[in-house]
Amino acid sequence: MTRIFLLSLLVLSLFSMAKAQPDRWQQRVEYKMDIDFDAKNHQFQGTQSLNYFNNSPDTLRRVFYHLYFNAFQPGSTMDVRSRTLPDPDRRVTDRISRLQPNEEGWHQINSLKMNGKDCRYEVNETILEVWLPEPILPNTAVTLDMDFHSQVPVQIRRSGRDNQEGISYSMSQWYPKLCEYDYQGWHADPYVGREFYGVWGDYEVNISIEKKFILGASGILQNSSNIGYGYEPEGTAVRWEPGDKLTWRWKAENVHDFAWSADPDYKHQQLKRKDGLVLHFLYQENEKTKENWEALPRVMDRVFDFVNEKFGQYPYKSYAFLQAGDGGMEYPMGTFITGERGFPSLVGVCVHELMHAWYYGLLGSNETLYYWMDEGFTEYASAEVINFLKQEKLLPGTPKDNPHLDTNNDLIVFSRMGREEPLSIHADHFSTNSAYGVAAYVKGHVFLTQLEYILGSPAFNSAMLRYFNTWKFKHPNPNDFLRILEKQSELELDWFKEYFIYTTKTIDYAIKSVEKANRTQTRISLENAGSMPMPLDVTITYKNGRQEIFNIPLDLMRGEKSSEFAGVKFSILPDWRWTHPDYEFVINEKFKNVVRVEIDASQRMVDVNRTDNVWVQKESQDKETKE
Ligand SMILES: [Zn+2]
Repeated sequence: MTRIFLLSLLVLSLFSMAKAQPDRWQQRVEYKMDIDFDAKNHQFQGTQSLNYFNNSPDTLRRVFYHLYFNAFQPGSTMDVRSRTLPDPDRRVTDRISRLQPNEEGWHQINSLKMNGKDCRYEVNETILEVWLPEPILPNTAVTLDMDFHSQVPVQIRRSGRDNQEGISYSMSQWYPKLCEYDYQGWHADPYVGREFYGVWGDYEVNISIEKKFILGASGILQNSSNIGYGYEPEGTAVRWEPGDKLTWRWKAENVHDFAWSADPDYKHQQLKRKDGLVLHFLYQENEKTKENWEALPRVMDRVFDFVNEKFGQYPYKSYAFLQAGDGGMEYPMGTFITGERGFPSLVGVCVHELMHAWYYGLLGSNETLYYWMDEGFTEYASAEVINFLKQEKLLPGTPKDNPHLDTNNDLIVFSRMGREEPLSIHADHFSTNSAYGVAAYVKGHVFLTQLEYILGSPAFNSAMLRYFNTWKFKHPNPNDFLRILEKQSELELDWFKEYFIYTTKTIDYAIKSVEKANRTQTRISLENAGSMPMPLDVTITYKNGRQEIFNIPLDLMRGEKSSEFAGVKFSILPDWRWTHPDYEFVINEKFKNVVRVEIDASQRMVDVNRTDNVWVQKESQDKETKE
């Protein structure tokens, strides 16, 4: 074998190895930050050394950073957006416009160099625009060194000082953060209060702050024996550095953001799970928190058992539940939640934010474009987890057969109001906050309930796990997700994507008639009265109580699902072509023996008018009303 031949074989095999994985390039960062915190003035000096790996095929002449704190200044894009929306977030309203200079947030950039050479830059409110002294060539890395000075705003949205429950510092979106550049280009969106997208990489963050503060963070503390406060290994004699500050050295690897919080009154509880994962709980202990937070670790431990198995293994060694922020907000390896809540609410918010660790933290879809792949999928998973906790009697309430039913109905109610906007709208550009909320949380959730109905639960559940394992750490888009479902089910789903993401068309099927076809057979006539086609499950109940499901595939699917319900006869009928308003089929059963016919008896399809989905035999109808 010649060397060249050997080499080409090697190249070929490397190429095919790459093909086995999603072969999309992505950028990478390594942040090292030293933060000197001045709690008296709520300001800090920072240095940031950022190794930036340009794995793209493109030559980059510019880069962009997010400067989120600059949003908290009167007249900012976020301020004006909030004051001009018809239904602003009640936490924001006009509060930014009323900030005094010592209450505002800001980042001042003192210097920025690339590989030691000065960069030209301009602060354009929440985006730092940078012209590089030399282009960054494809597949090369550079170091960007920045000196900055920042002021922490009073708590208005997500981050800030002195939140409503008296937590001193909720530090999220708190440092100059490089914008993501991907196959769709730069994502340098001005901050108006919506969510995030970041570059995968490693963070080393050293925070020097007065000794009285206790910190929690979305990372792992590296110098616990010099800090204490419950972080030190059991039995360690803690040795504090001299001086009036402690330097907390944090590391987080393979994440796309880093957040921390600080308070002098934090109580720090932790739980080490059987698999080695350490759960941290930091909260101010008082009569509103004590009992509920003490009961929380045991429940969250069980949640990890359930979720690791159902939705994929959590890969990090730490997760922190931090009382901070203004409700519940997810970060990699941790969350900010307000803590003075009743137990079901506390568990509910912890479960929701924790599920973000999978869809925001580990899959990391672009939330400006695909917010619903995070919020909606998180809501779907949370509903499953809450149901599990009720089954386990760790939460009060009766578990449901279908924990997603209420969400389906919420979408129907909102779409009737005529204010729904499609999932293809950029997160910042909705006409109302409520339309964003419904799209992200409700329709994103229903997106999955519809696919579960179309594929059948067994194929859908395997596909969700396969999606996580295939796309974790890779920023999937909607098409990436649907391709996994297509491969798992051998069904075509492009039609579903086009209707459900790009339109607000609705589903409405009806039973037109059920009648005697002849002496031994019954004819069932159906109608598509809606604007979006779907496959149908039609359940027929016979006089003797037996039930049977007839599945009508949609022609566009090029296949059909398998039976989902053990012990119920399941038959596949010919396809319903999407252009045809009507469909008819005949069953081998005498008309008088058919007592009930129902479209989608499982009620999983978001049919906007369910009253015409059921037909009941006259005789039994009379009986039903008498009962
Ligand atoms: Zn959420």
